[in-house]
Amino acid sequence: MKKCRICGKRAIIYMPHHRLALCREHFVEWFEKYTEKTIKEFKMFTKKDKILVAISGGKDSLALWHVLRKLGYEADGLYIHLGIGEYSERSKEKVMKFAERIGGKAIIVDLKEELATIPELVEVSSREACSVCGLVKRYNFNKVAKERGYSVVATGHNLDDEASALLSNVLNWNEKYLGRKYPVLEEEGGFVRKVKPFCKFTEKETALYALLNGIDFIEEECPFSEDASSVFYKEILNRIDERSPGTKLRFYLDYLRKVYPKFKKEEKKELQRCKVCGEPTMGEICPVCRLKEKVKVSG
Ligand code: SF4
Ligand code: ZN
Ligand code: ZN
Repeated sequence: MKKCRICGKRAIIYMPHHRLALCREHFVEWFEKYTEKTIKEFKMFTKKDKILVAISGGKDSLALWHVLRKLGYEADGLYIHLGIGEYSERSKEKVMKFAERIGGKAIIVDLKEELATIPELVEVSSREACSVCGLVKRYNFNKVAKERGYSVVATGHNLDDEASALLSNVLNWNEKYLGRKYPVLEEEGGFVRKVKPFCKFTEKETALYALLNGIDFIEEECPFSEDASSVFYKEILNRIDERSPGTKLRFYLDYLRKVYPKFKKEEKKELQRCKVCGEPTMGEICPVCRLKEKVKVSG
């Protein structure tokens, strides 16, 4: 059994990619310090910023909200009720309870009132569920942040999320992606700054942090996630990491350091304002307003 590097007590986790074993108490301390370090390293935000944390009810987003408040940042939560049956009901419940526990403010957006539920939108769209869902969520994060005076939107994406998305995009040589994915996306043309303070933590680490802090998160997966290819890529990366510890983190960090800067220069966005809602978009009418139109026609 490994011993904690700080105090010598029994370790509850060994992180080979950091060559670090820690006990319960020192893992929590390390996790919080490392979050702060990542925030500073990428200049994500400061104590002067008003942060909106996108919360789903899952471990990553609730843990992120918890850590940011503990570190003394001004952070409120934004929950989007997607209307995905029981899954949405239960996740909302978890969010409300958690907000109450930490005395945090949770803004709730109900998609059914705003537009239509995800299952309804999937019906009228040719896109896959997660693609529709991602689009609608990003749109609302941005819109709500601007309307309510938040300067940054923070999401709970972890290393497994980022590395698996990277792997899938590398396998398809998606150059556009390679110039766009970074833990900080600066504010530009109607988009608020977006940050991912957990991008260097593995899923196992965020789960352990949530567990040790008694965070009651939704464990069940969204019913649409079964077809998500990202699950498959995550499994593959974990298998590679078991064989060759540290590969996952290195794959992601080397991308940020070596590959992203090369592709970033080529990225040129020509944004205009959506003629219907005024949000930034590449075309005349933004994809969310186009979805709204389709719902109206089909309804
Ligand atoms: Fe949305 Fe897909 Fe996530 Fe479900 S799995 S919440 S549909 S992005
Ligand atoms: Zn210790
Ligand atoms: Zn629009």
